[in-house]
Amino acid sequence: MHIRKRVLITGGAGFLGSHLCERLIEQGCDVICVDNLYTGSKRNIVQLLPNPYFELYRLDITFPLFIEVDEIYNLACPASPIHYQNDPVQTTKVNVHGSINMLGLAKRLKIKILQASTSEVYGDPTEHPQSESYRGNVNCIGPRSCYDEGKRCAETLFFDYYRQHNLMIKVARIFNTYGPRMHLNDGRVVSNFVVQALKGNPITVFGDGKQTRSFCYVDDLIIGLIQLFNSPDDVTGPINLGNPSEFTILELADKIIAMTGSTSEIIFKSLPEDDPRQRRPDITIARKVLDWNPKVPLDEGLEKTIAYFDKLLSSPLG
Ligand code: UDP
Repeated sequence: MHIRKRVLITGGAGFLGSHLCERLIEQGCDVICVDNLYTGSKRNIVQLLPNPYFELYRLDITFPLFIEVDEIYNLACPASPIHYQNDPVQTTKVNVHGSINMLGLAKRLKIKILQASTSEVYGDPTEHPQSESYRGNVNCIGPRSCYDEGKRCAETLFFDYYRQHNLMIKVARIFNTYGPRMHLNDGRVVSNFVVQALKGNPITVFGDGKQTRSFCYVDDLIIGLIQLFNSPDDVTGPINLGNPSEFTILELADKIIAMTGSTSEIIFKSLPEDDPRQRRPDITIARKVLDWNPKVPLDEGLEKTIAYFDKLLSSPLG
């Protein structure tokens, strides 16, 4: 008899979480999606709701959860600076209390757990590109600290549960990822620029626009997460997952204006505090250990993202 694996995905109604739910259902898993819908949305998973192998629980993982599952992907946490700075105490709580609760669950059930960590653990990096051995340059009292330090503490907890309790852990450090189902108003650069371009509004470049980011298309990232989860037990990570092709924010703005045929002008606004100057993942380890390589070039991914927002904006819900 084929037994479906019961996979718990925290943050399953979010941008990355919803794509992960979809992919794991396609692979024959029984998916339990837990989300407090703070930034996640039912709209992201509406197509999964009729599926008997999908369940949504509106729960906050800062409170303990009693459930029987076989695998855990811990993705819950607002990821956009606007959202995570809106309630910074809760952001730290979801990373610390939430991780402790999920690790405790994994420990009781003796199951594997993956942590969605972030390139933000490197802060405003003084090493470029960033490899996993780089220890980062993080401000512990700034506006981004709730997220950066929260995620760093979550990594600490994962490795202490691994060393102290022999828990099977996987830690992915996710770099900027984009694609359909990004939150419309979350302030991330790709969604902001695409929505501004489609509406003919000014494109808001922060600072001089010479800061860089490296953008990974969501499908590539999800494949990487699943490959990491299913890698041999001695592969704990942390492993960088992201697309190493690096662009300045101005280049991104120009590209999106050209691709949408928009008449939007570019305007410059002040750079947010502690905004990293440059970011590019060194993915040597992911290539070697997971045989993973992002495949979708920025132009192709942007085309799909633009089509998504175009449809969303013209729908009554947009
Ligand atoms: N950014 C921008 N205009 C916007 C939104 C963001 O110039 O409307 C810049 C932001 O200052 C940062 C980069 O784009 O340098 C990426 O920002 P995002 O919030 O997407 O992610 P981050 O990598 O900073 O977490």
